[in-house]
Amino acid sequence: GLVVIWAALAEAEYMIYKDATKPLNSRIKDLMNRMTLEEKIGQMTQIERGVASAEVMKDYFIGSVLSGGGSVPSKQASAETWINMVNEFQKGALSTRLGIPMIYGIDAVHGHNNVYKATIFPHNVGLGATRQVKIIPHSDPDLVKRIGAATALEVRATGIPYVFAPCIAVCRDPRWGRCYESYSEDPKLVQAMTEIVSGLQGDIPANSPKGVPFVAGKTKVAACAKHYVGDGGTTKGINENNTQISRHGLLSIHMPGYYNSIIKGVSTVMVSYSSWNGVKMHANHDMVTGFLKNILRFRGFVISDWEGIDRITSPPHANYSYSIQAGISAGIDMIMVPNTYKEFIDGLTSHVKNKVIPMSRIDDAVKRILRVKFTMGLFENPLADNSLVDELGSQEHRELAREAVRKSLVLLKNGESLLPLPKKATKILVAGSHADNLGYQCGGWTIEWQGLGGNNLTSGTTILTAIKNTVDPSTEVVYKENPDADFVKSNNFSYAIVVVGEPPYAETFGDSLNLTISEPGPSTIKNVCGTVKCVTVIISGRPVVIQPYVSLMDALVAAWLPGSEGQGVADALFGDYGFTGTLSRTWFKTVDQLPMNIGDKHYDPLFPFGFGLTTKPTKTI
Ligand code: BGC
Repeated sequence: GLVVIWAALAEAEYMIYKDATKPLNSRIKDLMNRMTLEEKIGQMTQIERGVASAEVMKDYFIGSVLSGGGSVPSKQASAETWINMVNEFQKGALSTRLGIPMIYGIDAVHGHNNVYKATIFPHNVGLGATRQVKIIPHSDPDLVKRIGAATALEVRATGIPYVFAPCIAVCRDPRWGRCYESYSEDPKLVQAMTEIVSGLQGDIPANSPKGVPFVAGKTKVAACAKHYVGDGGTTKGINENNTQISRHGLLSIHMPGYYNSIIKGVSTVMVSYSSWNGVKMHANHDMVTGFLKNILRFRGFVISDWEGIDRITSPPHANYSYSIQAGISAGIDMIMVPNTYKEFIDGLTSHVKNKVIPMSRIDDAVKRILRVKFTMGLFENPLADNSLVDELGSQEHRELAREAVRKSLVLLKNGESLLPLPKKATKILVAGSHADNLGYQCGGWTIEWQGLGGNNLTSGTTILTAIKNTVDPSTEVVYKENPDADFVKSNNFSYAIVVVGEPPYAETFGDSLNLTISEPGPSTIKNVCGTVKCVTVIISGRPVVIQPYVSLMDALVAAWLPGSEGQGVADALFGDYGFTGTLSRTWFKTVDQLPMNIGDKHYDPLFPFGFGLTTKPTKTI
């Protein structure tokens, strides 16, 4: 026996890069020295799970795989199904000559939102409205840190070590379809919320050199600050468009979130589709290499957005060879090439062979990718096991989400102190398209990219169910989605709760120039609030047009996109907790005022940034 073991050991060459006791830089150097151009370019290539397989991973030395929005192994896939899929790709990567593990990434932007039965937290716009006065006015960084930690556990529960979050966009115009992915219009608030990076990755050790990536092991994930930079500043909020702003404006409004993310050791940064003063960020060497890498000393890797380099040209993919050259030369290290990976690999290979792109650029990219992989322990623990599966949608995480929901609510009007509502009433009416619709209250980026309507998408509590759970057993709850005025009149309701808002959307599909509440929302408000005492709850990713109806409402609550735990809404409506949230965004009167942000000269909002009424809880818990 011993002889066999000895022979095997002698045969296996000692490799520094495989030795976890060796310093990080020696491991990187050792591995780099062993790699061929083909292997290096493979590391820079991220492909879509739909085109990935163990063979593809092996044959092309692929460094990363992603789930694009809603790209899942199967509908309602279990944590084990996810783990098996990720491990299958990983085994392909590990079976290569050098056995470099791949890193799997996913958009967990409000919890592990692609995965069935995961906890869905409020979208960022709501988290920006939470308030923890002692730390910083108008935001609760400790809460988002805990949300980050819970999200990391749920993502790891499915075998995934990397998330494309947080979005630290500073949305300056709510006409932007991604406004709900932004914590605030205020750079300072966004900056404070980068605390989520520490929740996702763990706390970076004190005295870490500035800019180094950090992930604290198997219960944490690598994070991605996105979209660098100025994504939230485009004209009229048009997605992927041009941000026209001075250098000072760019640095003071859109950059502070990156400063803090880097200090916290964020592992990756995703480049924005948008342009700055006409230059596509994906081709902006000054900002990606000059500023992010050289001035800010960011040492993690820079990833492109989905087909981001393709969109350097108009129309997209018109000159892919040029796109590769421009993107890689700008300083992007990993390219999200969902489907055309062969074309990318061939194109980049010939650019290097023809000396269009120097080998030093490739080496910079690969070192950064390896640094993240080594730091997070991927070489030591490349395969996922099922030890964390119970974390997915756990009761503890749902309680945390419920806490986040109630803290994110902003009370905008409370005539005659209607709120908190009495739990004991003869008969109450619950109405509106969003009252009993889990998909609507979760919004976009939930199970599917664009989100889904209805109650079957995943598990959670609708606001109607939450209300029924909360009222006194003697209270009759009548639910009618869109009642006419006669119906409301002919019943003797004690009061009504109307829940209306925006349907789900994501990215460009959410761009809107009119920002209206979708019909029949406005008619529901008129029919109900014109007739009986009412509180209106708005479910939306941003401020919407409500000025024409506010006088009809006795009370008004902005609930944003609260996610799976609708109970948090009822907790505040019925006074188990007080309302404490404050607006993370300016609420405009009419869309022709836009863009309008705190600090603007002619600031004349319906409700200003930071506004929010408070109530006291009716009982102490
Ligand atoms: C979005 C990114 C996202 C990526 C991968 C893109 O369309 O802009 O935010 O991370 O898709 O799903």
